[in-house]
Amino acid sequence: MSDPVVTMEKIVNLCKRRGFVFQSSEIYGGLNSCYDYGPLGVELKRNVKEAWWRDTVTTRPDVVGVDCSILMHPRVWEASGHVASFSDPMVDCKLCKGRFRADHIDQLRCPKQPSKKPGECDGELTEPRSFNLMFKTHMGPVEDSGAAIYLRPETAQGIFVNFVNVVNSARMKPPFGIAQMGKSFRNEITPGNFLFRTREFEQMELEFFVPPGSDDGWYAYWQQRRMQWYTDYGIKADRLRLRAHASDELAHYAKGCADVEYQFPIGWQELEGIANRTDYDLKQHIEYSGKDLSFFDEQSKERFVPYVIEPSAGADRGTLAFLVDSYDEDGPDNDRRAVLRLHPALAPVKLAIFPLMKRDGLGEKAMEIADSLRAHFAVAYDQSGSIGRRYRRQDEIGTPLGVTVDYDTMKDGTVTLRDRDTMAQERVPIDSLYEIVRAKVAPPVNRAALRPPA
Ligand code: ATP
Repeated sequence: MSDPVVTMEKIVNLCKRRGFVFQSSEIYGGLNSCYDYGPLGVELKRNVKEAWWRDTVTTRPDVVGVDCSILMHPRVWEASGHVASFSDPMVDCKLCKGRFRADHIDQLRCPKQPSKKPGECDGELTEPRSFNLMFKTHMGPVEDSGAAIYLRPETAQGIFVNFVNVVNSARMKPPFGIAQMGKSFRNEITPGNFLFRTREFEQMELEFFVPPGSDDGWYAYWQQRRMQWYTDYGIKADRLRLRAHASDELAHYAKGCADVEYQFPIGWQELEGIANRTDYDLKQHIEYSGKDLSFFDEQSKERFVPYVIEPSAGADRGTLAFLVDSYDEDGPDNDRRAVLRLHPALAPVKLAIFPLMKRDGLGEKAMEIADSLRAHFAVAYDQSGSIGRRYRRQDEIGTPLGVTVDYDTMKDGTVTLRDRDTMAQERVPIDSLYEIVRAKVAPPVNRAALRPPA
């Protein structure tokens, strides 16, 4: 059972009200399943991506990053198999004209009221047919087929086609990885559930290249590592699971695949896929480009095409999971508090500063403290409403620490520091704030072994 306190509706409302996420083009009636991140959402998502990049790239000696263009040579998508088979089965309802992803019928509702499962109303469904999910556009002013081009449906291919560039320029040798974060586009048949399934989204992908034969160990390693990342950043372990694909779910080239799943209010859903893609991708590009993408190991004097372990996560899905997971309510019925118990490293605002009163120099003093800490952390300053209300506003957006400046501050240079989760308050010197906040918002230390057990 999912947590009864948190519903998708509460999350959507909070996101709109507090400026995490808005419907795209809202003043024109919105564009279906497209969203804009507002002032707090952009910070939260940046922090999620930064946490991934830090864990996957900058704290590791064996992973480097790239940032490739969204538009790529059309042959890339022929080689990768996307032109031929990046499709989902689609059915149409002959009555309401709704279009549905055939393999998701159980989770879908038709647009007719009262809404039913597609096919359960009087409408007849067509036979499933294959619908390619790639967005096609044209490069340059001529709309002929020679100029047809795709918006990338995944970031991974930019990594594969740069394999040799990275090996040569960064002097990497397998086992090593190349990571990328960025926008991907899929013309999903039935997008929905807020940020969960959209047509434009961000991915965080790692392609980890290993000598054939060591792939099983690295596959197990990355599954464990990626699960650990989510719990390190606060996701509750009992709402997270790893689900290995059955053999009939596996892509024909994959040796293994497991999904990291999270228990959303809409049920258990994929956050990330981790696959052992064998040497399929590099071999495809060798064939289609005619270029040698194998690796020559100077030490062993062996030439091989590396196997690839791919952890592929969604930044928006991840952000939604962190929002859902951290949402909590406490206190008595007549004084309920909504709080986002976000990991402090992910919180969009780290510290809020409140003058008890605006007058008698308290406002100026509070602003002075805010300005001095703003060079280091995202700081909010709020002087309106009762202190209790101001605390609540910050709790609801996940700010881990609050500081109140009062008359004693003017006498002895101390402030009241309040903790979001425990609501405990203590008196601390202004001079100690930087160190306290720094320690509080530090990212978890990546203590993972850098290699799988032999
Ligand atoms: P699904 O089965 O949900 O369509 P998928 O298995 O096709 O997903 P992958 O191709 O493995 O997804 O993509 C890797 C990750 O990218 C997913 O785990 C998800 O987090 C994210 N992702 C994929 N499609 C979408 C989408 N339409 N909207 C938001 N995130 C997405």
